[in-house]
Amino acid sequence: MWSRLLGRARYDRPMEFDFGMIGLGTMGRNLLLNLADHGASVAGYNPSAAKVELLKQEGAGKPVEGFLDMKLFVASLRKPRAIMLLVPAGAAVDDVLSKLDGLIEPGDLVIDGGNSYFKDTDRRFKALQEKGIGFFGMGVSGGEEGARHGPSMMAGGPSDFYERVQPLLEAAAAKAPDGTPCVKLLGAGASGHYVKMVHNGIEYGMMQQIAEVYDILHRGLGWDSDRIADQFGEWSRGAFGGFLLEITATVLHHKEDGKNLVDSVQDAAKQKGTGKWTSQEAMDLPVPIPTIDAAVSARDLSSLKDERIRASQVFPAFVTAAPPPVVDQLGTALHLGFLATYAQGLEMLRVASNTYHYGLSIAEVASVWRAGCIIRSALLPEITRVFTNDPGLTNLLADPKVAVFAAENLGGLRTVLAAAAAAGIPAPSLAASYNYIIGYATPRLPANLIQAQRDFFGAHTYERVDKAGAFHTKWGQE
Ligand code: NDP
Repeated sequence: MWSRLLGRARYDRPMEFDFGMIGLGTMGRNLLLNLADHGASVAGYNPSAAKVELLKQEGAGKPVEGFLDMKLFVASLRKPRAIMLLVPAGAAVDDVLSKLDGLIEPGDLVIDGGNSYFKDTDRRFKALQEKGIGFFGMGVSGGEEGARHGPSMMAGGPSDFYERVQPLLEAAAAKAPDGTPCVKLLGAGASGHYVKMVHNGIEYGMMQQIAEVYDILHRGLGWDSDRIADQFGEWSRGAFGGFLLEITATVLHHKEDGKNLVDSVQDAAKQKGTGKWTSQEAMDLPVPIPTIDAAVSARDLSSLKDERIRASQVFPAFVTAAPPPVVDQLGTALHLGFLATYAQGLEMLRVASNTYHYGLSIAEVASVWRAGCIIRSALLPEITRVFTNDPGLTNLLADPKVAVFAAENLGGLRTVLAAAAAAGIPAPSLAASYNYIIGYATPRLPANLIQAQRDFFGAHTYERVDKAGAFHTKWGQE
């Protein structure tokens, strides 16, 4: 069906539109225009007139129409309808679904493209399935630019409904270096939103480690923002380069009134919840994702601005030494930090896929992240190859080549952590990455002592390395 439409060049104002979008904000409007560029006639609905007007203006000359009236919007769509939601996650999605109730019919398809919580997606899927309406969740990444010119899209749900929109989504998606579209039906149920949640968790981890390296260069080594920008620019073109390093260079260079704007930005980070959900969910599975946990906590700590100022006034000085010029090691630290973050996120997805029966292929997930999304980097093609060659691999760090690389470069990360500690600069996510890597590769951890303590105060029993069974001991009574 869509393939017939792909490549159509001119807008002849159809009576019925191929695809509908609810929510014409940053993501919805841009993705809708992108879909129109790829041959679909599209209609958008938004409750405020200004955004409908903006869609009409930006879509002038394309097969695009905007609606302020939900009934007219739904009636304008060709049956069976395909409607995507790009509204804020949470109550707005339920609000839209309740307004669509009675307007859409069995056989129609609704795609939630926002950052919805995966358990909400499960609930909505069941409610719509009972009415014969197709529903799937699809994480969209790439921000405004990605939505307009090629996002990465992570779908999960029933394949028959996905296939109806697959050609159009593939046409609009970012293309990996080998030309593969970065959109896929990754698995069953709410797996699309689950994968997007973990994508965002990885994003938190990578951003925090970049910020820690920035802090060491800025406060530790005394570099100005332009010099730091040049360094990030160099890294962005290297072996672990990617979107987040590129934008870091651009952000650091940006001037307002002749000054680097970043120096005037308040140091209190906000969040919309996907990082926190990733950590909460990882604890429930349970899977260790310490780099991401530390990144979520670092944002929380940053937001305690007034408390931090008060504490800094009563705290004795804790800076013991200016860091040595650890620039090369900072690059190594970021490289390893990024690898550790991908390793944690992908292991979380592997375990979640088993727990929730998603049927995810980790190679496919990494493949969809190769272009268009915020966490894309030069590391992802190799990570895709690693999991393609060994689909049963439990953890990226268990791949022999990755393990040797990590082991050979650990010294650089260790040097950076020592320098940060001496300079009194917090580096919680880099430290978490380091401890995760060495902890993962340590055959005997001190959990024997924890088991003994648990058995002491709670009679929780313990297992032994030299005998089978569960044991309880009256510790101290030999
Ligand atoms: P915006 O706030 O820019 O746009 C949201 C749009 O939804 C607005 O046009 C708003 O209309 C509309 N809307 C809000 N409530 C309702 C409702 N009850 N019924 C109908 N329309 C409603 O958000 P984004 O485009 O940035 O984000 C949309 C979704 O995509 C979110 O889930 C977000 O987390 C996700 N996302 C965002 C990314 C980004 O970089 N911005 C990246 C990836 C995903 P009005 O303004 O008139 O209230």
